[in-house]
Amino acid sequence: MSVRVVARIRPLLPKELDKDIIVRAGSSEDGTQPNVVKIPSPKNEAEIFSFAFNSVYGQETTQEELFNAEVAPHVKSLFQGLDITLFAYGVTGTGKTHTMRGGMKLADRGVIPRILSHIFRRGKKLTKDTDGLVDVDVALSYYEIYNDKVYDLLEPPEKRTPTGLPLREKDNKTYVIGLSERQCEDLRDFERLYIAANQNRVTASTKLNAHSSRSHAILRVKLTQTTRSDDGSGSVVSVLESTASAIDLAGSEDNRRTDNGRERLVESAAINKSLFVLSQCVDAIARGERRIPYRESKMTRILSLGQNNGITVMILNLAPLRSYHLDTLSSLNVSSRAKRIEVREIENEVVYKQMPRTFNSTSSSSAFSSSAS
Ligand code: ADP
Ligand code: MG
Repeated sequence: MSVRVVARIRPLLPKELDKDIIVRAGSSEDGTQPNVVKIPSPKNEAEIFSFAFNSVYGQETTQEELFNAEVAPHVKSLFQGLDITLFAYGVTGTGKTHTMRGGMKLADRGVIPRILSHIFRRGKKLTKDTDGLVDVDVALSYYEIYNDKVYDLLEPPEKRTPTGLPLREKDNKTYVIGLSERQCEDLRDFERLYIAANQNRVTASTKLNAHSSRSHAILRVKLTQTTRSDDGSGSVVSVLESTASAIDLAGSEDNRRTDNGRERLVESAAINKSLFVLSQCVDAIARGERRIPYRESKMTRILSLGQNNGITVMILNLAPLRSYHLDTLSSLNVSSRAKRIEVREIENEVVYKQMPRTFNSTSSSSAFSSSAS
């Protein structure tokens, strides 16, 4: 199945003085859903560049429309055992956080609260439809990667160590050691945790005299479906685990042009490197290469990008204004290459905790003995 790379152009903000719109959504064929982004060349205004995507969402696109088109269809796959990875990529101020987290009003809610709402609803329905034989658990981890160090966002900033949390490899997977995980019963539970964690992020970056747009924020939702046998024994038949990850990436702007303090340069180097590795991974997957350089940055390593089975959606956020011209072009250059990523769609394996009772004793063995005799 091919990974989706889509672009979203945000509307003008009321406070914006620059009203010179230079980025537009277009269609390569008439009457189809827009799939190209058009932008003039900075050297020659008459020359218009077109960048192709799987889909392009214009200024008027609502949160609900984007979610329904790009994320909702994958919730079913998540319950079938596939992992989902959602990235928001782009320059600071283009709408990454708006797309992922969104506003407090119901209509403004972003992809993250919406996917959780769908997961809880589907989980409750599954338990009900199976008369309680399938248990659905949702657990949350939330961390940020700042200057290539991993910090837990579910813990208060005072508990941070300067070195961040260590990584370990096990069974070819990368784990963040000491990362907390919280069980979530419902959407209210989730929102309480999520709001507190985002507050931790702001507090921590203020202490460092930094800005939260300079770190990657990674939310991981672990879905565990436990199926029990229906013979009244309550024994566990199978456990199926899958994860949905939503990543609000650090701003992709060229920091060398805008900032020159030492701290900022260290940050920029870390951001540039991880975004570069991300684009390299995406490129390698797109070309169907065996070797994907996912180990070369912490973010891609933790996400096992291209190694995990499932669906990746990359959303490139764009501001339509001239003041973003060069940064917009460079982010288009990086992500339009990503549009043909292929990832094999393989379901996560069901882990058998205990053999189903019927299989152990009665049906199968008696079937064998009768055929043998
Ligand atoms: P980023 O996270 O990429 O730095 P933000 O998500 O903070 O950008 O967006 C910058 C500003 O633009 C915010 O005030 C946000 O509310 C607003 N904004 C972004 N996208 C939209 C949109 N699609 N509709 C309305 N306002 C938006
Ligand atoms: Mg942001």
